[in-house]
Amino acid sequence: MSSTPSASSNSAVLTINLAALRENWHTLDRLSGQAATGAVVKANAYGLGIETVVPTLIDAGCRHFFVAHLSEAVRVRALAPDADIFVLNGFFPDTGHTYLQHQLTPVLGSFAEMDEWRPLATEHRNIPPVALHFDTGLNRLGFAPYDGKEIAEAHRSGSLGFPIRLVMSHFVESEIEGSNVTARQCAEFDDLRMIFKDIPASLCNSSGIFLTPDSHYDLVRSGYALYGGHPLWSNSANPMSPVIRLEAPIIQTRLIPIGDSVGYGGFWTAARPTRLACLSLGYADGLPRGSESTTTRPGGYVIIGGVKCAMLGRVSMDLLIVDATDAPCHAVQRGSMATIIGDGLSIDCVGDNARTIGYDILVSLGHRFERRVIDQLGV
Ligand SMILES: *Cc1c(COP(=O)(O)O)cnc(C)c1O
Repeated sequence: MSSTPSASSNSAVLTINLAALRENWHTLDRLSGQAATGAVVKANAYGLGIETVVPTLIDAGCRHFFVAHLSEAVRVRALAPDADIFVLNGFFPDTGHTYLQHQLTPVLGSFAEMDEWRPLATEHRNIPPVALHFDTGLNRLGFAPYDGKEIAEAHRSGSLGFPIRLVMSHFVESEIEGSNVTARQCAEFDDLRMIFKDIPASLCNSSGIFLTPDSHYDLVRSGYALYGGHPLWSNSANPMSPVIRLEAPIIQTRLIPIGDSVGYGGFWTAARPTRLACLSLGYADGLPRGSESTTTRPGGYVIIGGVKCAMLGRVSMDLLIVDATDAPCHAVQRGSMATIIGDGLSIDCVGDNARTIGYDILVSLGHRFERRVIDQLGV
C-alpha cells in the first residue's frame, strides 16, 4: 500500500472493499444480540452504490433494508426479492401501486398518511404492512408519542384498517456518550413499546447499537458504521473496518519560490520554497471547497508516499493543489497516486478537516471516479 501506485488514466479511483463491508455487518450483528441487523442504504448506500452494497449484505445475512426514497426501494427490491424494505420518507397517495407491486413498507408518521393508506388496504388484500415512526426529540418526522395510545387502540379494535409491521423512533445524539437526551428518548420509546406490545420495535442507528445495548429491541438500523464510519464521538479507536479508499493521480508538479501564492484568490502564500503537486480531483468530485489550508487556518491533507501533504489555496472544481515538499521525490511524479481517504486517513478526519461530518463526505463521493470493487480483507 505504501508502494507508489501509478495512474492508468487521469481519473481518481474509488476502491470499495466488500469483505470489509461484510465484516462490519457481522460486527454490528454480534453487538445487536437478539435483534435483527438492518442496513440503511439510503442516498445510494451512502454513496457506495446500492447495486454494489445490497447483494453483499444479503450474502452476509441481512434481511432488512431502509431507504429514504421510493425509487431507492424499487432498486433494492430488484436485488433483494425476499427482504423487508422500509421507505423512511413517508407515503404520498399517488404511489400506492408501487408499494403494492414491489411489496414495500412505508414508514408513516402522520394521520394524513394513515388516512391515505387506508383505502389501499381496503381495496387490496395483499397490501404490505406499514411501519410507524414516532418523534421522540428530533422534531423532524413522525407521530407525537402521545398519539400512540389512540393508534394502538384503533389497531386492537381493527378500525385502523391495516397491519403494523414495526414501531420505530430515531435518536438525536446517540454518538455522544452519557447523553441525557438519549436516555430520555429511550425511556419514552420504552413506554411506546408497552403500548404496542406485540409489534416489533426499532430505535438504534449505528451509534445507538454501541451506546444503548438495552434499546436494541427487535431490529437495529445501521448505516454509517457499516461503511466504515466511526460510530462514536469519543477518541476511542474506530471499531469498524475501513470500506473505501480514494486516490487521485498527480497530473503536474512545480516548484514555487517564497512569496508565490497558490490557487484562485491566492488564499495561500508560500513561506518556504515549495514543491506543489496538482491532483485530478476537486469539489465536483465531492471534496468540499474549504477543505484546504489558508495562510491563517490549517485544513485537510492527502498522503503521498506515506507523508501528509497539506491541501492548499482553494479546492477547484476538478483540481486540488497540495504541498508535496516533504514527500519522497519518487512518489511526487506525474501519474503517481495521492491518497485522499485511506492509509489511516479516515472519512471522519476528512469530514472534520472540511468542517463537516464523514457522512457528508461519503454521500458526496463523485460520479466520475473509476470505481474498483475488491473482496479481500486486510488491504
Ligand atoms: C439515516 C438513518 C439511520 C442510520 O443512521 P446511521 O447513523 O448512519 O447508522 C437510521 N434510522 C433513520 C431513521 C435514519 O434516517
